[in-house]
Amino acid sequence: MKENLWQIAESMGQPVRAPLQPIHDPLLDAHGVRLFLKREDLIHPHVSGNKWRKLKYNLLQARAEEQSTLLTFGGAYSNHILATAHAGRLWGFRTIGIIRGEAYAPLNPVLAAAQAAGMALRYMPRWRYRQKELPEVATELAQRFGPFYLLPEGGTNQLAVQGCKEIVDDIAIPFDTIVCPCGTGGTLAGLAAGLAAGQQALGVAVLRGENFLDDAVRRLLIRKDCRATWQLTFDYHLGGYAKSTPQLLEFIESFARRHDVRLDPVYTGKMMFGLYDLISKGRFRTGETVVAVHTGNGSSDM
Ligand SMILES: *Cc1c(COP(=O)(O)O)cnc(C)c1O
Repeated sequence: MKENLWQIAESMGQPVRAPLQPIHDPLLDAHGVRLFLKREDLIHPHVSGNKWRKLKYNLLQARAEEQSTLLTFGGAYSNHILATAHAGRLWGFRTIGIIRGEAYAPLNPVLAAAQAAGMALRYMPRWRYRQKELPEVATELAQRFGPFYLLPEGGTNQLAVQGCKEIVDDIAIPFDTIVCPCGTGGTLAGLAAGLAAGQQALGVAVLRGENFLDDAVRRLLIRKDCRATWQLTFDYHLGGYAKSTPQLLEFIESFARRHDVRLDPVYTGKMMFGLYDLISKGRFRTGETVVAVHTGNGSSDM
């Protein structure tokens, strides 16, 4: 068995490419900020790059436990569901997706793609879905489906944080601040865990729920002492998860025109919109180097 799943992916014709792209803009020049985009979106055409990072060590663990089935949870537009379906197909796992709520026909494009990648879709009523962390639910699922490796909703756990830390390891230039969009906070925790002294991570929350997210990131952090190196902003969720404004859509469109980079309205669009606003307000020092993580262009749900 090969140790490195990236090598397996590459041997199967899936290049793992996430280069740094310099971004040039009058606003950046005016404030003396150097900005790079870490193109995690180039890792896979249909799957968010950060979901891929989160899966890496989980899949190695599943193999080490000799599990042949991955089971996970998600909403009907979940990037994580789709990522698990693709990863399962690529690395030879059966996959089961437990979807929140009722089944709809026809399947939406995300679930249709997950099913086409071989995932078995099963639906769970919302009241039950809220209880999915209870041991009795796991027992019931095991009785129904047999043994499986469990991936939490959004794919966020300690092994996912370890995988996201490699986003930082993969950056070859010195930088001061790294920025990412935050859903569950797993990606931000990974970035924070990978920082060197003097560097900081900034998470742009895409949903409401201040206290929840702050606690979640803290719990996930491997280095408990790195509280000082990360921060969250809740100023750019624009009303909540998947909520949008004409201003945001205008920003995404003009960013695409100027830089030929597609941002999505749920995650990366809000991050970049927030980052530009913070730069215009003088949040960053002259001469500072900022890396923004383009986490991917998935379907837009956790
Ligand atoms: C899931 C997702 C996120 C959120 O990542 P968390 O680790 O849950 O905070 C950000 N960007 C994209 C594109 C995603 O699919």
